[in-house]
Amino acid sequence: MITLEKCFTYDELFGLMKDLSEEYKEFVLCRIIGQTHDDRLIPMLRVGVGTPALLCSAGMHGRENVNPIIMLKIVEEYCSAYRHKEFIQQCSVYDLLNQFSICFIPVVNPDGYEIAQRGFDVIHNPILRQMCKMKNITHENWKYNARGVDINRNFPSKTYIQQQFYEYPGSENETQALMRLFQDYDSMGYVDFHSRGKIIYYYRQCMSSLYNQRSHRLAKYLQKLSRYNLGTKDEELMSNMSGGHSVHYYSELTGKPALTIETVEDDATFPLDEKYQKEAYEEIRTIPIGILEMA
Ligand SMILES: [Zn+2]
Repeated sequence: MITLEKCFTYDELFGLMKDLSEEYKEFVLCRIIGQTHDDRLIPMLRVGVGTPALLCSAGMHGRENVNPIIMLKIVEEYCSAYRHKEFIQQCSVYDLLNQFSICFIPVVNPDGYEIAQRGFDVIHNPILRQMCKMKNITHENWKYNARGVDINRNFPSKTYIQQQFYEYPGSENETQALMRLFQDYDSMGYVDFHSRGKIIYYYRQCMSSLYNQRSHRLAKYLQKLSRYNLGTKDEELMSNMSGGHSVHYYSELTGKPALTIETVEDDATFPLDEKYQKEAYEEIRTIPIGILEMA
């Protein structure tokens, strides 16, 4: 059993993922989808036996340390419910995960996660370590990968804007890992978890009004489950000034819904207190299974 309200290193998260895929091997698969610039593996858990799959990612920004472990807690809860044919709210987890799957990528950016938790000395490559230190940002506030690139600005969407002279659309290993996943998997939608704000962003400026109507309906339903606010059109337009998000790329590539969900209250400071883990878990635990139910 995963106990919340403690700090987890990347190795501990990875260990929990291996344990879950062992314990529930009839319907859970642990796959490596990529490798970071400082040579850490990016693992994914596929839960369920059906297709298409819902894709859920977290930990794209290093300092947002609450979502990776809650995502594993959600996996644990769904696995147990599947095995014992239990319902979560009104959802039959057994039926839904026979019909669909959910792919969870809890730590898209393991290098950034480790920096934020434990400081720059975790970076093995001395050149990268030096590059990180030269950015003059405290390790607790580190959002980037080990090359100092914000992965959530690096996707080759229509709204991509170059942030660093040494990056280009899709230049980062972590970005490429998700791009391959988006291209190769038969998927039905995508949710990217971030922190902070308790808000659900669904509106995609580059997509049709029909697309946005559908996403709005889905977001309204998730709002009921989580009691988070809905992001406004204006906020999406503002975020387009710094485009290149994974949700932009996914929606343009597949035409399927792509939501950003921000956990944790807006005025929380980094490092996020462990007390937020339980609260955020309760708020979002029904979201992935709820999306399958809605499909
Ligand atoms: Zn974020």
